[in-house]
Amino acid sequence: MPSTNALHIAVLPGDGIGPEVMAPALEVLRKVEAKAGLSFRFTEAQAGANNYLATGVSIADSTIRLCEEADAILLGACGLPSVRYPDNTEIAPQIELRFHFDLYAGVRPARLIPGVPSPIVGAAERGIDFVVIRESTEGLFASMGKGVVTHEEARETLVITRKTSERLFNFSFKLAARRKARGRSGTLACVDKANVFKAFAYFRKIFDEVAQLHPDVKTDRLYIDACALMLVKRPWDFDVLVTENMFGDILSDLAAGLVGGMGMAPSADIGDTHAVFQPCHGTAPDIMGQGKANPTAMILSAAMMLDWLADVSGIEGAAEAAQRIEQAVDKVYASGLKPFEFGGSAGTVDVTRAVLDAL
Ligand code: ATP
Ligand code: MG
Repeated sequence: MPSTNALHIAVLPGDGIGPEVMAPALEVLRKVEAKAGLSFRFTEAQAGANNYLATGVSIADSTIRLCEEADAILLGACGLPSVRYPDNTEIAPQIELRFHFDLYAGVRPARLIPGVPSPIVGAAERGIDFVVIRESTEGLFASMGKGVVTHEEARETLVITRKTSERLFNFSFKLAARRKARGRSGTLACVDKANVFKAFAYFRKIFDEVAQLHPDVKTDRLYIDACALMLVKRPWDFDVLVTENMFGDILSDLAAGLVGGMGMAPSADIGDTHAVFQPCHGTAPDIMGQGKANPTAMILSAAMMLDWLADVSGIEGAAEAAQRIEQAVDKVYASGLKPFEFGGSAGTVDVTRAVLDAL
C-alpha cells in the first residue's frame, strides 16, 4: 500500500493494440500528476504472447516480483490468436495475475458517456450507468486447464467457495453503498442460475447471508438469462450487479456493447492487497498497427487506478485526478469526437490529443 504521494506503477503494455493504448494512458497520467500533487514512477515490463515468443514464458517471475512491489499494476491486453501454449490454450498473463494476487473482484463499469452512440433506443435520454462485478478467480474458470476430454465427452467443473463469495459480496455491498453516496440508486443485484444449479443456489445463499450485514443496501436477485434480457431492454434500471466469473465475462462484454464498444469499457481486477487495471477489450488483431484503436477504455482504467489508490491509501489528490480524467473524457465526447470504433475518423492519436487538450 502506498504511504506517500510518490506512486510506483508497474506498466505491462501487452500485445496487439495493448501498447498502442497504453502510451496515451501514461501521457494522461503525466498530465494530471503535478496538479494532483502526485509523482508517478512507471516501471515497464513485457508480458503476453510476444514475450512468450521471445522468452518462452508469458510473464517472467521478475515481472511478478515487480508487480508485487508496485503500488498498482497497469496492464494492456495480452495474447494473440496465432500464439498459443503447447496445449493450445491462450496466452493469458492477466489470468495468471488474477490468481497470483487473488484478485477476486473484477469491476467493469458501463457508463454511457453523453455523445457516444448506444444501440439501445432511449439510452441517450435515460442514461446508462451501472457496474458489473465479475468474480475473477473461481466459478467455471477454476476449471481452466483442468477439464477432462475424451473421445466421448468433455467435462469442466464449476467452483464456488464460501471464502471468495463472502469477500466478493462484501466488496460489492461496499461499492453499492459508495455509489449510493454519489447519488446512484445503490441497488445491488445478485445474478446467477440458482433455479437450476446447486452451486448457484449456494452462491445466492451466501449473498443473502452477507446482505444481512449490510441492511442499508437495497438488493435484488436475478437469473442470468432474465438479466441479459433486462440489460438490453432497460439498462438504466441497473446500478451494481455481482455475478460468477463466466457469467461476468459475458455480461461485461454485453455491457461494453451498450455503451459504445470495447474501446469505451474500462476495468479493474481488485483483491485485498493488489489491483490490476486493464481495459475490458482484447488485443484486437483486426485493427492493430493501424492507429485506429480507441484509447478511452485504457485511459478510464488509469482513472480507476487513481480512484482505487485514493480509496486504499487516502491520497486525496488521486481521487481528484481520477475525476479530472473522467471529466476530460466526457468533454471530448460531448464536443462530438467520433473514434473509428463508432464510425468516425478519430484515431488513437486524435482521441489522445483531445483528452490531453481537455485536461
Ligand atoms: P479477448 O479474447 O482477449 O477478450 P476478443 O476476441 O474478445 O479478445 P477484442 O480484442 O476485445 O476481442 O476485440 C473485439 C472487437 O472489438 C474487435 O472487432 C476489435 O477490433 C474491437 N475493439 C476492441 N478493442 C478496441 C479498441 N480499443 N478500439 C477499437 N476497437 C476495439
Ligand atoms: Mg473478449
